[in-house]
Amino acid sequence: MKVLVPVKRVVDYNVRVRARSDGSGVDLANLKMSMNPFDEIAMEAAVRLKEAGQVSEVVAVSIGTDACQDVLRTALAFGADRAVLVQTPEAALEPVVISRILKAIVDEEAPRLVLMGKQAIDDDCNQTAQMLAARLGWGQGTFACRLALADGEARVSREVDGGTRTVALPLPAVVSTDLRLNEPRYLKLPNIMKAKKKPLDIKPLESLGVNTSTGIRCLGVSEPPARKPGVRVESVEDLLHRLKHDAQVI
Ligand code: AMP
Repeated sequence: MKVLVPVKRVVDYNVRVRARSDGSGVDLANLKMSMNPFDEIAMEAAVRLKEAGQVSEVVAVSIGTDACQDVLRTALAFGADRAVLVQTPEAALEPVVISRILKAIVDEEAPRLVLMGKQAIDDDCNQTAQMLAARLGWGQGTFACRLALADGEARVSREVDGGTRTVALPLPAVVSTDLRLNEPRYLKLPNIMKAKKKPLDIKPLESLGVNTSTGIRCLGVSEPPARKPGVRVESVEDLLHRLKHDAQVI
């Protein structure tokens, strides 16, 4: 059984991002980029299924510029067998387009499971898995905190308000990962070295014949207002007075 894991190259989660002064987007110049953390969790889950003998092949796919090869090499170091880069002239594509491209890759690769992040930490869209499942007509288990494969089904426990809800999905299916599914492994040097020799195919976007129009325009990107500095209060009475009259929260 084959698993496809889409991995996105995003600004590293430790980096503080800044909006461009003209509001046209985020300034990415010279910033550290990494694999989207939820995609690392998806990679880890796929590799664990392979190690458990339930999956025969793990294929990582990234959509973006040539620079995405670094996150694909990371995926190969995790334990993916091979990687596919869908090469696009621009890095930022809307989830609606990404889901069309992933559908084309799924049609070619015919995986039984697509395991992906619930959300990319740069755009915070949380849309791609749901759109892909709809395009494929497959079941979806989003926000997975537990995943097991048995009897041709994926059993997915989903994080919902105040607990979990467990669903069974017939395969093929799309599963998106939440934070508590697993803790991704620390990559060891020998695996990083081995990853350099694993196959990485490059497919130009044009070769997939995907419609890239969206009708969506970004009207502006701005930073949140700066926080006011805190004040030291003299007494409990002073604190209560400020909460009541200044902050007006009690
Ligand atoms: P989003 O809907 O943008 O929050 O992204 C959700 C998930 O879709 C990510 O965690 C990835 O698994 C996948 N994804 C989004 N964009 C890309 C991309 N450019 N390349 C590969 N996978 C992607």
